[in-house]
Parts: sequence; C-alpha cells; structure tokens
Amino acid sequence: MKNKADLLVTNGRIATLRGYSIKPQRGTDFGGLGMVDGAVAILGDKILAVGPVEQVSNQVELNSAKIIDAGGRLVTPGLIDPHTHVVHCGSREMEYGMRLAGTPYIEILKAGGGILNSVCKVRQASVAEMVAQTKKSLRRMLSFGVTTVEAKSGYGLDTESELRMLQAMEILNHIQPVDLVPTFMGAHAIPEEYKDNSDEFVRIVIEEMLPQVKDLACFCDVFCEDHVFSIEQTRQILAAAREHGLGLKLHADELAPTGGAQLAAEMGAVSADHLLCTDKDGIAALAASDTIAVLLPGTSFNLMSDYAPAREMLEAGVAIALSTDYNPGSCPTENLQLIMALGCLKLGLSPSQVLAAVTINAAHAINRADRIGSLEAGKQADLVIFDTDNEAYLPYHFGINHTWLVVKSGKVAYKKVEEDCFED
Ligand SMILES: [Zn+2]
Repeated sequence: MKNKADLLVTNGRIATLRGYSIKPQRGTDFGGLGMVDGAVAILGDKILAVGPVEQVSNQVELNSAKIIDAGGRLVTPGLIDPHTHVVHCGSREMEYGMRLAGTPYIEILKAGGGILNSVCKVRQASVAEMVAQTKKSLRRMLSFGVTTVEAKSGYGLDTESELRMLQAMEILNHIQPVDLVPTFMGAHAIPEEYKDNSDEFVRIVIEEMLPQVKDLACFCDVFCEDHVFSIEQTRQILAAAREHGLGLKLHADELAPTGGAQLAAEMGAVSADHLLCTDKDGIAALAASDTIAVLLPGTSFNLMSDYAPAREMLEAGVAIALSTDYNPGSCPTENLQLIMALGCLKLGLSPSQVLAAVTINAAHAINRADRIGSLEAGKQADLVIFDTDNEAYLPYHFGINHTWLVVKSGKVAYKKVEEDCFED
C-alpha cells in the first residue's frame, strides 16, 4: 500500500542537495545541487518522496494532499544558520558612529560599549525579555527562508545568567517554528571580575558551569584567541565539555593565526568558525579532518576587515559552510540571503556553492545532516520556495528578500505578502 501524503509541493525546480547526509560536500563536489524538476510529497513533518511528478505520484497516494503549486520556482531545503548569537538583549547602535570614525575597540569598551555592554544587559534581563526579543529575530530569519538556527549563550558569563540564556532557547523551541540548536559558550569573553585571573574563570566554566548546562546544550564553543582564551585553556574547556557529552565548536583564528584550526581538527570539533587568519597548516589540518569551516563574511563586511581565505580552503578540500554570526556587535543582521551574496562577492564562491554552504554543509556544521539540509525521503519537511527559477538569482539580486513561501516541519510557516497597494 502506498503512503498517503498530506502536502504536495509541485511544479518546482528542486535543488535537492541529495546524497551528502553522511559526508559534507567538498572539493569538486561542492555546489552539486541535485536539481530535479518535480514535486515534494510530505506526511506530517517528514518528506515521503522527491522527484518528477509522475514518479512521486506512483510512489505516494496524493488524493487527500493539500497542493502548493510552486509555479516553476526554485525549491530548496530550509536554510540553516549554523553560527549565531541570536539570543541577546537590546542593541549597540551607539557604537556605530565610533566604529565608523575608526575608534579602536578598546576605546569603545572603555566608553561602555563592546561585548561587556551586552553582558551587562543580559545579566539584568529576565528570561521572558530574552524570549520576546529573540522571537522577533527568529520570525525575521524565517522570512529569509531559515528554518534551523544554532544559538550560543555567552553574554551572561556567570553560571546563573548563562543558564537563563539557555532556558530562553529551550522555551523558544516550544513557542515558535524555527528550530534552535543551543550551544553553551560561557567562554565567550573574560568577564571584568576575572580580567586579571583568566585561569580562575576557566576553572569556573569547567567545574561550575559545564555540569549545570550540559543538559540544555548540544555544543560547547570557546573564543580561542590571543588575550582571550589561549590554546591550552581552550583545550581544557573542550576536553571537559566532551566528557559531558557535548559536541565541540571553536571561534578560531579570527584575529591572528593562533593554531585554533589545528586544535579544532585535533579535537574532532564539529566546526571551526571565523578562520580569517588561518594559515596553510591550519587549512591542511581542516582539509584532513571532518571539521567544517564555518565562514562569516557578514562580520568582515560590517567590521570592514579582511575575509577568510575561502578559495584556498576550497582548493585544499576543506568543507565550508556559511553563517550570519548574527550578534549585536560585529554583525547585526538576520539576513542569510545577504550572507550568500557576500559569499560570492567576497569569498569567491559560486551561487550553487553558497547554497550548499547554507543547507547541507550547514547541517553538517551542527551535526544534523541525518535530519535536515537536503530534500530526501525520510528527512524533516523543511523547504523554501524562492521567487525565482534559478539559484544564481538569489545572490545576484542582493539585499532583498527572495522568499515566496516556507514550509517548516510540514506546515506553511511563512508566505510572502504582496505589499503593492496601488492600482495599475
Ligand atoms: Zn560568534
């Protein structure tokens, strides 16, 4: 007997991204979209079949399915944003003028700005306040076609505030459609009260925070950089996190080539992120590992800084994903489609590569490629219909929102509203 679908997205130009659920796309495979003209049949929150319409109707009973006619539009897996600080409080536009005037970050910190400003706000905020602000951001991300978002703690920097950030994420996973993947990042910065004794703060992260947050988080991330957390401190924190069953992530080589990429590869981290200054040895280490390089060109753009050496990584065989790094300081945008454009213009990737970098490879960067990131039978029914018939149009026509409709876990979660009020 054939399975009965309850939803059919038909008449689509479908970028399936199929065939890479076990290993990410890299090298000459990177950017293979697995295009199919046809339909996606869905039951509940799962995909039943994907393929030419005739083939799908042979496999699946469609009589009771609700039909969405994509009208020849591009259909992709729901986009995945694998590196964000989406949970935070307030905003920091008061620093913007200072940054534009070239004020050094240390001066911005002294004037009450920078990351410690966000820490101060989060320490004073209730869980409900964090939930309310983040819910708005997730709504905006969904409108850009994003159905799964990795989210880091790290603006609390004390056990109680870090726990509240992770509790906010847990609540958000129940009250709105976008899936949040929580990462504990207590080692995001050294708080003021430990600025002369970072080893003591590392001890608190390991002995006090990790045992309390381990059931609320999937990953542990560390800001590994000169004058923040050293390679040795990072290794200690990540080793302890692994003991608690957490996956590992690493903010690596953003400001200097400190060996963060090598450490990520050595420890079997799921991803190494930023990587602006990663040298040849770091690139070789990533290429020889399963660690995904998560590149964040929006941060470089907003900070007017250099970009990660994506072409060298690609040629060496590193698996690349892209992300917004959405945060109130270095990259205040929820627009992953804009990041795709920057991936083409500033990292030298092709339109099909940037699409793979925000779908299947982004799924690998959060260890969920068995469930999301491609349109294949058995996977979660997360898909986007874009108002174009080809993938190059997305980054080419940049700065606007191309989303026409989003299906999240088998349900229509967003639909473009025609805003034109004028009669022709
Ligand atoms: Zn970050």
